[in-house]
Amino acid sequence: MFNIEDIRKDFPILSRQVNGKPLVYFDNAATSQTPQQVIDVIVDYYSNYNANIHRGVHTLSQEATDLYEEARQKIQKHFNAKFSHEIIFTSGTTHGINLVANGFGSFLKKGDDIIVSALEHHSNIVPWQMLCERTGATLKVIPMNEDGELIMTAYDKLLSDNTKLVFVNHISNALGTINPIEYIIEKAHGVGAAVLIDGAQSAPHLIPDVQKLDVDFYVTSAHKMCGPTGMGMLYGKEEWLKKLPPYQGGGEMIAEVTFEKTTYADLPHKFEAGTPNICGGIAFGAAIDYLNSIGFDNIAGYENELLHYATEKLLAIDGLKIYGTSNHKTSVISFNLQGIHPYDVGTILDKMGIAVRTGHHCAQPIMDFYKIPGTIRASFAFYNTKAEIDAMVEGVKKAKMMLS
Ligand SMILES: *Cc1c(COP(=O)(O)O)cnc(C)c1O
Repeated sequence: MFNIEDIRKDFPILSRQVNGKPLVYFDNAATSQTPQQVIDVIVDYYSNYNANIHRGVHTLSQEATDLYEEARQKIQKHFNAKFSHEIIFTSGTTHGINLVANGFGSFLKKGDDIIVSALEHHSNIVPWQMLCERTGATLKVIPMNEDGELIMTAYDKLLSDNTKLVFVNHISNALGTINPIEYIIEKAHGVGAAVLIDGAQSAPHLIPDVQKLDVDFYVTSAHKMCGPTGMGMLYGKEEWLKKLPPYQGGGEMIAEVTFEKTTYADLPHKFEAGTPNICGGIAFGAAIDYLNSIGFDNIAGYENELLHYATEKLLAIDGLKIYGTSNHKTSVISFNLQGIHPYDVGTILDKMGIAVRTGHHCAQPIMDFYKIPGTIRASFAFYNTKAEIDAMVEGVKKAKMMLS
């Protein structure tokens, strides 16, 4: 069952020291740490299987191809996609979003609307602004309330026959809010719009069932799920992926090439130009295996316990304010100390070996909403402990004393 001491032994980095203190790693919403089981797969790949895929008849190439395609099937099963060719390997969430945004460039025209949310990561705002500039479509924004929740009555009013696309993150990286994506998807489909869900913050904490959600596109990054950086996936419904034009041209994505005309490869290869991150894909599969061996129910339950424990302890500090107070949130706490710049607190915590994030968390519009320059963000994973939270709380108290 869930044994935190055993789990921590899986992560070599957790036993290192920072500035002479045991590392307390609370920057999991930026990237997660990597268990030995995934590190071993990476070492094994480069020690035994390294070859280019889908091309060679030689043994190594076939073995690497098999492992890579097995990883795709693992990911398909995990997210419950209907077909493995609906899983496109990408370099991460950002790449997946850009792939879809670029493809929609050929479907949109002036007068069409794209709806995004006030809680988006920059990677989910900028590609749509670029798309609107190119096509003449209009970007509309679902507003948020003081608790950091999207206002669904305002969303209902934004929807119309002009709405072609809705893009929302499943969970906000800056505040931890879990958005009502079931409702968002159903309503968008009611006006015939497609929906892309940014799952970078949700896939590490729960298992999204893409068929049950009936979502058109779902993107995520491996590095937030105990996998390697530079790797991610785009799920797209087969009908959409067939309609979307390729994103990049190159090797691997073609069926036939002459100077007169090129025909594209079948899915998923149509969207996978060039030599992919082969090892990364295999390691992504291993990371999903690892998370499933811990169990997502265990992960969510334990992280929730950490969230409530830390929230209570932090709120006991005078002058500390938490941003993002929805009842539906994951283990992310964004906070500030009255009159003190978040950066200064982050610097003092680092001196104590405590890694938190400070700044706008790639979500400046949220900071503008609260009229603050940024926050201190502690984000917990299933390998963190209450003792680590105690250390952070002590650190915050000390920082407050030194800075006020
Ligand atoms: C991290 C993150 C992204 C960007 O992911 P990359 O791996 O940097 O491409 C996008 N959206 C959210 C909500 C994130 O947390």
